[in-house]
Amino acid sequence: MNNVKGIAASAGIAIARAFIVEHPDFAVIRKQVDDVEAEINKLNAALAQSRSELEDIKARTHEELGEKKAEIFESHLLILGDPELIDPVKARITSESVNAEFALNETATQFIEMFENMKSAYLQERAADMRDVTKRILKFLLGLDYVSPSEINEEVIVVAEDLTPSDTAQLNRNYVKGFTTNIGGRTSHSAIMARSLEIPAVVGTRNVLGAVQNGDLMIVDGIDGEVIINPSDEIVATYRNKQQVYAKQVEEWSRLRLEPTMTRDGVHVELAANIGTPNDVTGVLENGGEAVGLYRTEFLYMGRDKLPSEEVQYVSYKSVLEKMEGKPVVVRTLDIGGDKELPYLDLPKEMNPFLGYRAIRLCLDRQDIFRTQLRALLRASVHGNLRIMFPMIATLTEFREAKSILEEEKAGLLAAGTAVSEHIQLGIMVEIPSTAVMADQFAKEVDFFSIGTNDLIQYTMAADRMNEQVSYLYQPYNPAILKLIHMVISAAHREGRWVGMCGEMAGDQTAIPILLGLGLDEFSMSATSILPARSQISKLSRSDMQALAEKALNLATAEEVVALVQSIGTDSV
Ligand code: PEP
Ligand code: MG
Repeated sequence: MNNVKGIAASAGIAIARAFIVEHPDFAVIRKQVDDVEAEINKLNAALAQSRSELEDIKARTHEELGEKKAEIFESHLLILGDPELIDPVKARITSESVNAEFALNETATQFIEMFENMKSAYLQERAADMRDVTKRILKFLLGLDYVSPSEINEEVIVVAEDLTPSDTAQLNRNYVKGFTTNIGGRTSHSAIMARSLEIPAVVGTRNVLGAVQNGDLMIVDGIDGEVIINPSDEIVATYRNKQQVYAKQVEEWSRLRLEPTMTRDGVHVELAANIGTPNDVTGVLENGGEAVGLYRTEFLYMGRDKLPSEEVQYVSYKSVLEKMEGKPVVVRTLDIGGDKELPYLDLPKEMNPFLGYRAIRLCLDRQDIFRTQLRALLRASVHGNLRIMFPMIATLTEFREAKSILEEEKAGLLAAGTAVSEHIQLGIMVEIPSTAVMADQFAKEVDFFSIGTNDLIQYTMAADRMNEQVSYLYQPYNPAILKLIHMVISAAHREGRWVGMCGEMAGDQTAIPILLGLGLDEFSMSATSILPARSQISKLSRSDMQALAEKALNLATAEEVVALVQSIGTDSV
């Protein structure tokens, strides 16, 4: 038995066998070949291997998850046998004397682009299927030993050096019971995705990958941040018990699903959820979310080979707005950069990606990308209660420039006879200290603020949010952070604006009493944190928390702040 400590990234207990995920290189290069026939035979062999693998997966899925879930693999089998895809690949090998993997990749990319530009959501989804099938054939052509995390079809715990946010987004929660990685922090994007998928996770362990073999029995304790490898029967029994206690607690919280969020002294605050894809809305509603406080649109741009078209984006935004049925939806414009990469943009490598060319900086420079997104949003605005938010704003000049581009696009659409809502609120993320300090000026021009503490903390403390070696400095409760939050809320309220928080701190049970006391209006968090937060807030009184916040602002260290909150002794803190 071996214990590895890490950062608790997504609550819950998972017990299953280890499945190690490594990332092979799918790069395809064009090669001239002499023996065209041998290349076609190679392609035929890869198609046959792919077919037999897919038939296997389909049969297992059918048996374990039912017919509906197995249909996806039936459609993959159809693509695999479709002469409209395979014949042009063979023709290309013959006419250009090129290698099979190149011919396949080029032909499939044309189909993927065609599907992506279709109007119907159904046909757009076919692009993802085509991408999956192509990868499977390429795996055999390139001789790679690789199972994509999205294909896992037995109950496992995924173990990896790191998982990209899009890897995490594709995990099938029916099979992936938990995951654990060597690197990453609680606010790295794979951890955030794990919470929205409700998969228990422990990240930043530094060495779990070296301590485990494929097939080892493992326990991932996402509550206390611990991984246990090859536990004894006794330990397994203890954790099965902990699993049940947690399930009971979740059941208890679920009674609050349709209740409003009220403090003990009758003050209502809004509990909203952070989402990454339209599918996440189901979790928001199941967990009693009153709004979407942050839709991270960058996931729409990931896991594909080129920028999503205006149509692809419009379909996604409209779908979220419609599913939320008039409840507020804050959509953040593209925040790419940092740990969220878009390989197809071919951006130069940077020394400090979190301080570099990202988010609004990139959008103001690459206005083609920005304007496409804004048009999609403006067109979707008539389908619900849309709020638009710009990320990483550092100066008022940036905000004004972004706003004027939005207004230009709106005027263009209206002139062309396209309807746009007249009630779109426009706000900014406060995640750069300069913006927090200048909140009084910003408050005169924006409709709302949403405090992005994930970044605000790392920039204020100069401690990389992804780096577990400096995680001791990543201090949400440091009075410096509390003072910045206080400045932002006071400045906004003086101008009659509302303030939300969409960083992970908004769902943190130690921070909530202070944030309530500081006057935060909207708390936006992972959907699974909403009900525990509602339960906690119902036991607190706003006026008591105002006194608590006042005291916290005058303390010297994060440790003192934690001790102060613990001293109030609500049973959920
Ligand atoms: C933040 O920085 O707090 C935030 C919500 O944005 P992200 O985590 O996507 O950087
Ligand atoms: Mg951020």
